[in-house]
Order: sequence, then structure tokens, then C-alpha cells
Amino acid sequence: MKKGTLFVVSGPSGCGKGTILAEVLKDPNLYYSVSATTRAPRPGEVDGVNYRFMTNEAFEKLIAEDGFLEYAGYCEHYYGSPKQPVEEHLAKGQNVILEIEVEGAMKVRAARPDAVFVFILPPSLSELEQRLRGRGTEAEEVVQKRVAQARRELGTAAKYDYIVINDDLSTAIADVKAILCAESHKTEKNLEEIEEVLRK
Ligand code: 5GP
Repeated sequence: MKKGTLFVVSGPSGCGKGTILAEVLKDPNLYYSVSATTRAPRPGEVDGVNYRFMTNEAFEKLIAEDGFLEYAGYCEHYYGSPKQPVEEHLAKGQNVILEIEVEGAMKVRAARPDAVFVFILPPSLSELEQRLRGRGTEAEEVVQKRVAQARRELGTAAKYDYIVINDDLSTAIADVKAILCAESHKTEKNLEEIEEVLRK
């Protein structure tokens, strides 16, 4: 059976990746990997849906058990992608999306050269800062930390396979969908399909 493709999507906090992915994930053949984190839930976030919220101890236990495909420290908290559900869905032929920051993404790059990497850019850093502040869920000090972090993250964008600028939301959504579509039509992923047609 055709194996699914692993997509890794990154972009600085506030660039709109969550909104883009919420739309893209309406495709039933896409599985969103729910990350584990030690940060506190934001208002409205649900355990097991947005994240698996964990204590430091529980997270470190899972690291010791080799339970993560990747993990990283970000703004003083752990974030990681649990390995098992990702592998299971890929084996079933489903495409999997990891929405993770750049350090973790580069670990996936090293471990899984077949994965596809998409970086979402905000139209500008000042626009990003406004969006973060407008979200109203973070203290000013946290906003400043996240803007500084965004600047660092943008330095890694050139290592991704695709860049999408989230200036106009519907265009950015269409762009990400187009990337997923084109990738699943790559010849190397469809060699079995050719055989299948020849057999029929
Ligand atoms: P937030 O706290 O805003 O939800 O996420 C902060 C950052 O952590 C975002 O850049 C997000 O992409 C990243 N992130 C979320 N889950 C994971 C994960 O499982 N692994 C890594 N490396 N980063 C993650």
C-alpha cells in the first residue's frame, strides 16, 4: 500500500499557521499530529485536541522512553511530536502534518529525508507583532520574546522546501493545499500506481 507523506509546517508564532491548517485539515485523508507540551493551555484550548498538556516530569519520561519523533525547547517549555501515532497513520497511507518550530523541524529533516517542509511567513515582522498583541492572550513580555524568536526562526526558512506568505489568508490556504496536492502526485510516490494500471 502507498505510504502517506509526512508534512512539516513551521512559521513564527502569530503567522497564522493555525488558521491555515484548520482549513487545510478539513481533508479527511490528512492526520494532524497533536503535539505534547509543558506550557499551560490558553483559554479555549482543549487537552488532546490542541495539545497533550503535560508536566515536565511526564514529558521527560516520554523522552527517556524514546516516545518522540522530535522535541525541542521553545520559550522555556518543551514541545514534542509523539512518534507512535505519526508512524501508524503514515503506514495506513494517510498524510500526516506536524506543525512544529524550526529546531524540531530540522531534527525531522535529519531523521526523515522523505518528509516535505513548508514554512509560513508573515508579510512583515511589524505585522506579526501586531497580530500577536491583537491576540490578547500573551503578556507584553511574552509578545516581545516571541517576536525575537520569530526573527531567529526566519533565519531557517531558507532550509525548507516551500515558502508560503500569509498576506491574504485564502491565498495562503490555497497555496498550502496546492503543495500537498503536488507532493502526493510525485512520481516516486506513485510507482506502484503505474504497476497497478498495467496489471488491470
Ligand atoms: P504555541 O505555544 O504558540 O502553541 O507554539 C509555540 C511553537 O511551538 C510554535 O512555533 C509551534 O509550531 C511549536 N510547536 C508546537 N508543537 C510542537 C512540537 O511538537 N515540536 C516542536 N518542535 N515544536 C512544536
